[in-house]
Amino acid sequence: MKIANTLLLIFLFTITRVQAQAQKQAQPQDDKMQTFVTTLMSKMTLDEKLGQLNLPGAGDITTGQAGSSNIAKKIEEGKVGGLFNIKSVAKIRDVQRIAVEKSRLKIPLIFGMDVIHGYETVFPIPLGLSCSWDMQAIEKSARVAATEASADGICWTFSPMVDIARDPRWGRIAEGNGEDPYLGSQIGRAMVKGYQENLSGNTDIMACVKHFALYGAAEAGRDYNTTDMSYVRMFNEYLPPYKAALDAGAGSIMASFNDVNGIPATANKFLQTDVLRKQWGFKGFDVTDYTGINEMIAHGLGDLQTVSALALKAGIDMDMVGEGFLTTLKKSLQEGKVTQAMIDKACRRVLEAKYKLGLFKDPYKYCDEKRAATEIFTTENRNTARKIAADCFVLLKNQNNVLPLKKGSTIALVGPLADNKENMTGTWSVAANFSKSVSLLQGLKDVAGDGSKILYAQGSNLDADSLFEVRAGMFGKPLNRDHRPAEALIAEAVSTASQADVIVAALGESAEMSGESSSRSDIGIPQVQQDLLKALLKTGKPVVLVLFTGRPLAIKWENDQVPSILDVWFGGSEAGHAIADVLFGDVNPSGKLSTTWPQNVGQVPIYYNHMNTGRPLEGPWFQKFRSNYLDVSNEPVYPFGFGLSYTHFTYSDLVLSNTSLKGAAQLKVTIQITNDGALAGKEVVQLYIRDLVGSITRPVKELKGFQKIMLNAGESRKIVFTITPEDLKFYNNDLKYDWEAGDFQIMVGGNSRDLQSAKINWTK
Ligand code: BGC
Repeated sequence: MKIANTLLLIFLFTITRVQAQAQKQAQPQDDKMQTFVTTLMSKMTLDEKLGQLNLPGAGDITTGQAGSSNIAKKIEEGKVGGLFNIKSVAKIRDVQRIAVEKSRLKIPLIFGMDVIHGYETVFPIPLGLSCSWDMQAIEKSARVAATEASADGICWTFSPMVDIARDPRWGRIAEGNGEDPYLGSQIGRAMVKGYQENLSGNTDIMACVKHFALYGAAEAGRDYNTTDMSYVRMFNEYLPPYKAALDAGAGSIMASFNDVNGIPATANKFLQTDVLRKQWGFKGFDVTDYTGINEMIAHGLGDLQTVSALALKAGIDMDMVGEGFLTTLKKSLQEGKVTQAMIDKACRRVLEAKYKLGLFKDPYKYCDEKRAATEIFTTENRNTARKIAADCFVLLKNQNNVLPLKKGSTIALVGPLADNKENMTGTWSVAANFSKSVSLLQGLKDVAGDGSKILYAQGSNLDADSLFEVRAGMFGKPLNRDHRPAEALIAEAVSTASQADVIVAALGESAEMSGESSSRSDIGIPQVQQDLLKALLKTGKPVVLVLFTGRPLAIKWENDQVPSILDVWFGGSEAGHAIADVLFGDVNPSGKLSTTWPQNVGQVPIYYNHMNTGRPLEGPWFQKFRSNYLDVSNEPVYPFGFGLSYTHFTYSDLVLSNTSLKGAAQLKVTIQITNDGALAGKEVVQLYIRDLVGSITRPVKELKGFQKIMLNAGESRKIVFTITPEDLKFYNNDLKYDWEAGDFQIMVGGNSRDLQSAKINWTK
């Protein structure tokens, strides 16, 4: 009750501020839009208004036949606001023509698509991209995606996904930016900037921040599952990335499927109105996820009419696929269950989005065949994807410098993912032509140069269980199952390996072992692949594990046994080339993990920014009556922020400008980084802070800054971080966002575990 009251007070205060700011910032452009939309809406019937709230599936549209498709009649009748996942200018133009020539008010449709990590030129999966810690590169990937998608008729993308995830069982961890709110916020911002810096041009597309909210906190890592979370955790740890992406200007947001504290997000007024609109002042439109309204029947909130009314009342503007708004809101209005004002507000927001995109001026603004022919999957874009991908890979281990490989040597490439171009793009790459991606085998051949010999054997299937393979490959990414006995495949691989100087084992997950509805309870490499790896290690030859994955995996055994491990996620269209660039040392790896990698699934959830307990384990594992396990230590295999390089960086001691600060002072934290290896390389210098005493428990450390720098061999550089009280703020138990005076620990280093540290005191 106390929380509810305080929240209300804070909201009232913030709302007044937001409204005042909004009034101050009102642009003439906004006035023009308001007048336009008001005039249009004055001509609209109730049915036409409800039509704008409807986002049906594209149905059976084929080029040249749009007019006879199921959807055409509805468009003509003004019952459709937009469509999604239709590909090609020709089809989109056909459908748009129906809207602007045959419907009564000629309102253009908005065309969306899941352009998640690239369009036809695919970049690494988002979890991979996040490991670049390179905001320019991430923004660039979104820019390229926007250019290609807009050239092909798309003006709205269901991206960025900024759901914090700390449970690698959850398959959609692949689509997000990992476990950290600070890094996640920076990435959300960069993505939005890349997609929609200037919507008045025709190369930008509207972003849709998803899935609001807390979709990544699904219990047991099972997709769509329930979330129950304290407000303090919600505001401090899970909400910041959504807010950051919206503050960057994202034009739309998508509600999540899951139940949040007893109310599914789609009907959750606290989230969709109190936080989103009143506290954050978001002005764009709010779309459900795919049949999100209908699914509330199964959640147990009532029949379709009831749940549709609940969604509208909660603040949802557009209904994806389920048509609950279209088919029931009229009745609910007649029965007084919703108001005309609610429908008008939603309709206005959808029309405003179309206005901002310039569709009323030119509904075919994104339908330029010339652009479609020349701006998609270009050599330039593929080169960009190759370069960015190489910076996302994380070198997890490199004993005896097995890597980089020597050009001119004989390499045995083995494994079910070695010659599989279709799986390289990873999950959610709907616009890609999978067969145009570069496999690792092809990449190695292209990069190895004369004198190198690349031998190949598949070595194993993805999994021993053929039915598992079917479940993990439903979207046309073949797995090339070999029906010989597993022993025969291993024997063939060992014989191939015996002719080589070094073995490269391409193992792990297929593209669709992560992503939507692809949760796993076992997050190891499938047994049949581990058997292959054991046999390869037994040959005594140096082995490099090239690990394909859409999630952090539990690879303790592999880390103990395999000399060299390179985590390559799913690298996109140019994956094969990018991996080869890193394996041969043309690119020095610089990726750092954005998630913690557990020893086993039993440690999950495990994340670096956890609270302390009253009985923390201090000193060696195991201690009775301390917070630890009998069978495994508390340590992860790889901590958040971790990643090696072919060179080596040394950190000097920390220098603080002051250890005793007051009020709005600034603290300068300086550290010298030296590249004392033999190669140029990039390092991500990370700043963490611990608030040592608080009115609520505070995390043992929190990322508060980072800089990715390039240093030549032998070069040193001083890095300076500036800290202000703003960096010390958090939501306290009354959900007040402020900082508290006291002691803080300042930490800097190359990952979240190995840090230099110093203490300061900051008074008010
Ligand atoms: C996913 C969304 C996606 C939507 C539209 C849903 O199943 O959860 O992330 O944008 O489908 O394709």
